[in-house]
Formats: sequence, structure tokens, C-alpha cells
Amino acid sequence: MSATLKGRAGLPPLPAELANRAVFPDDRGYAMVRSSYMAAGSPAVVIMATTADEVAAAVRYAADAQGPDGERLPVAVRSGGHGIAGTSTNHGGIIIDLSRLDAVDLDPDAHRVRAQAGAGWGKVSTVLAPHDLTITSGNFGDTGVGGLATAGGVGYFARSQGLTIDRVRAAQLVTADGRVRWVDAEHEPDLFWAVRGGGTHVGIVTEVELEPTRMNTRSGDASIIYQEVGYAVTDLGAFTQAWGEWIDGAPRAAEGFLMLNATGSGRTIVRARNVWAGDDTAAATPVLEAALGLGQVFEQQAFITPYPQIVPSPGQPHLGQQAIRMRDVLVDRADAEVGRAMAQALADRTTLLGEIRALGGAVSDVDPSATAWAGRHQRALVGTWLRPAGTVAEDASFAPLQQLGTGTYAAYSSDVRPASAELAWPGDTGTRLRALSEQVDPEGLFTQGHSLRRR
Ligand SMILES: Cc1cc2nc3c(=O)[nH]c(=O)nc-3n(C[C@H](O)[C@H](O)[C@H](O)COP(=O)(O)OP(=O)(O)OC[C@H]3O[C@@H](n4cnc5c(N)ncnc54)[C@H](O)[C@@H]3O)c2cc1C
Repeated sequence: MSATLKGRAGLPPLPAELANRAVFPDDRGYAMVRSSYMAAGSPAVVIMATTADEVAAAVRYAADAQGPDGERLPVAVRSGGHGIAGTSTNHGGIIIDLSRLDAVDLDPDAHRVRAQAGAGWGKVSTVLAPHDLTITSGNFGDTGVGGLATAGGVGYFARSQGLTIDRVRAAQLVTADGRVRWVDAEHEPDLFWAVRGGGTHVGIVTEVELEPTRMNTRSGDASIIYQEVGYAVTDLGAFTQAWGEWIDGAPRAAEGFLMLNATGSGRTIVRARNVWAGDDTAAATPVLEAALGLGQVFEQQAFITPYPQIVPSPGQPHLGQQAIRMRDVLVDRADAEVGRAMAQALADRTTLLGEIRALGGAVSDVDPSATAWAGRHQRALVGTWLRPAGTVAEDASFAPLQQLGTGTYAAYSSDVRPASAELAWPGDTGTRLRALSEQVDPEGLFTQGHSLRRR
């Protein structure tokens, strides 16, 4: 940490309240904060805010700061540091890091949990589970509240609870003018609409208030039933068709997630992770048994486990170690066409792995215009992990799936080009989001990463 700031890294001096919050390249702690999980960075300064007011001070500083040659500096926002596009770090710019804003407070009587942006979803799950409560979130505990609760949130309870943004009841937001606001359905409803699915378009969310779901489990600790199935698949079209029909026909308590690897011998190894929301084995058993009939099973296990166990938090330092690329599309249904396109994508040497995740259910209950996530009718999220091979090769490897897409989940994609943003925020959603962004952020402070205003 730095006390004497004037002129460091060629930047203007920081305001007094941030004097002990800044980490510069020649500071000892810099190596641990310069990068995100997916990208190595070399920012000019990382501001480790500890309060919403400090975030606001950092925003005001970033809005005014100029580099040595009078140029505008890139500004990145970081909460959990797990953004797929690696845009929570940069080179030569300012990082506003919220990882120290990581409190999670449950009010069981009010049935509300407040989570600060820098907390991970694993921490949220451990606060909720003893009260027999869950929240739909991603399935990795170290992804941040800030990045996920603004982007969407597709997890093991999607079909039963919807997206994470569907459980947000209020948010604390710092806008580009450095103001701290609480937004909800009554207070600044337009901004409240935008923070639920619009990412960073209208500012930095420092805290969200969420409505968790009571599980009514016999165990009383939010246990769920977890099933893993390994299939050796020769006809991925037929398998995907059968899987899509199985999950679409299953009760909403069931959630399905596939990870797919080509073997090179014409077979695909498909690993399914199925979750039943709750510990009602009598209700779950026929559904999970039906999953065993979808293909040639080479291994399987099913067990009851506390919900935090499926939201693991290894807590690794972020050194840009996961330097892969990802692409995704929302498709109307998981069917034979999707399966055949996935087989084609997996056959490309740039593709490392495929994913198919079930949507529908409670996700589709929400009116497409109610939040800034418009993709409510699609019933599957399909993505691939890619080795970094350059845009041309990455486009080519994903092309068979891309052409089937009718939307994109921006936070699941490394593609930050304008066309990707148009797919993530299509039509009226995009028009409204862009207008709100231009209104509250006229100078375009928050246009790094997935943005309709990225040039
Ligand atoms: C291993 C892994 C597993 C994942 N699993 C899932 C999953 O199951 N489901 C799912 O939905 N997603 C999943 N994701 C995607 C992930 O949830 C998103 O990329 C999310 O944006 C990460 O949030 P973060 O705070 O950790 O990211 P960060 O890297 O901190 O931020 C990523 C971007 O989000 C924006 N942002 C961050 N904080 C804020 C804030 N406070 N206010 C406004 N904007 C902000 C910024 O534009 C930033 O560039 C996964 C990602 C990884 C790496």
C-alpha cells in the first residue's frame, strides 16, 4: 500500500480517502491484485475499496484521471475476479476492486439476504444453508456477487428459482458521477431494471438485496440431491434430443448441466451433473433414474449433500491462470440439431470442451421486458471452451453452434465485440439499456468489456 502517491505510475495524486487503498506496480502486494482468474494484467493502479463511499471516490478519481500524455485511462471493475472475458483487469489503467466489500448478512425474519459485491457465492451459500435457504447462483463459489448478480446468474436452481437477477430486490449502485444510490422497484426503477442483467452499463453495484428460497427439506439444512452420470455417446444428435426432452419434461426441481469432450474415436464423453432442489428422494428418484436411460452409462453416483458442497470455493489467487476463451449461445431448445452442431464444434481442434445447461422453467416465467436479460424463451445455454487461437479460428470453431443461437449470455463469453453485445441485449432491451447508460454515464466511463457502447 502506498502513502505517498503524488506522481506514482505517472498518475495524478489520489484523494486522501483512497491513500491507503491503492496498490501500484512497485508495491509488494501488486502481483496478487494485478490479474483476474482468466487474464494477466498490468494496471497502473488497483484501488481496493472497502466501502461504497470509497467506490464512489474511486469512480470520481477515475473519471478525472489522465495518463502521462493527457489520455483517458481505461477503467475496469472487479468483484470476484472470475469474469470470463478477463475484463476485470487491464493494461495501464485503473482497477476498482471490490473484493474487500464481502459481507453477507441474512435477515431470516425478513427473508432477505444482503450480499456485498466482493463476496463469493460460496460464502452466500454457507450463510443461507443452516436456515434451509438457497439462492440460485452460478455453480462456482468463488465467482463474485458483483459480476454475476448484474449479468444474469445461471445455476443449479435455474429451473426452480430463475436467474440470480430474478431474486434481486434492491441494489446499491455507484454511478459514473460518483453518487451512491439504492435502486429498487420504487426508487429509480429504470436503473433497477438495468442492473438486473445489464452488467456494468449503468455503474458499479456495491451490494444487492436478494430474496432466497426456503427449501422445506427434512434435514433443515438446504440439502439437495446431486447426481453425476458419465455417458459414452456415439450419436450426439440423438443423445441431445433425448436429454432435452428429459429435462423439459422433468419437474422444475430438476436441473441438468452437461460437459462434453470429444475422444477422437468418434465417441463423445458426456458428464451430466443433475441437481434436485431439495431432499425429497421419492419425488427425485424416477427423474434421476430416467436420466440413466438417456445413453450408455459408464459411471454414475447420486447422493444427498448440503447445498454449499455444490458451490465450491477453492479460493485460489488470481494470476490469469485460466487463460482459455469461451463462447456461448442461448438456443430455443436442446435438440438433435444442437447435438450435431456440438459434435462438429468438438471436432475442431480449437475446442477444448462443450457445455449445455438447461434453462426454461422459472427463467421463462419472467416477462422478457422485466429485466435487462431478454432471453426468456430459450431453454438451453450452449457454450464451448476454446484454446486461445485468435478470433478467426475461434469464430470458425464456434460457427456451427453460433448459427443456431437466438441470444447470448454475455458473462459466459470472452467475445466482447459489438455483435456479441447486440445478441446479449437485443432489440428494445438494447435500445433502453444504451439510452440509460448514455444518460448516467455520458462520458462512457464503464464501457470496458461487454458493452453496447464499446467502440
Ligand atoms: C470457473 C467459473 C465458473 C463460472 N460458473 C458460472 C455459472 O455457473 N453460472 C453463471 O451464470 N456464470 C458463471 N461464470 C461466469 C461468471 O459468473 C461471470 O463471468 C461473472 O461476471 C463473474 O463475476 P465476478 O464478480 O467474479 O467477475 P469479475 O471478473 O470481477 O468481473 C467481470 C465483469 O463483471 C462486471 N462487474 C464486476 N463487478 C461488478 C459490479 N460490482 N457492478 C457492475 N459490474 C460489475 C465488470 O464488467 C467486469 O469486467 C463462471 C465463471 C468462471 C470463471
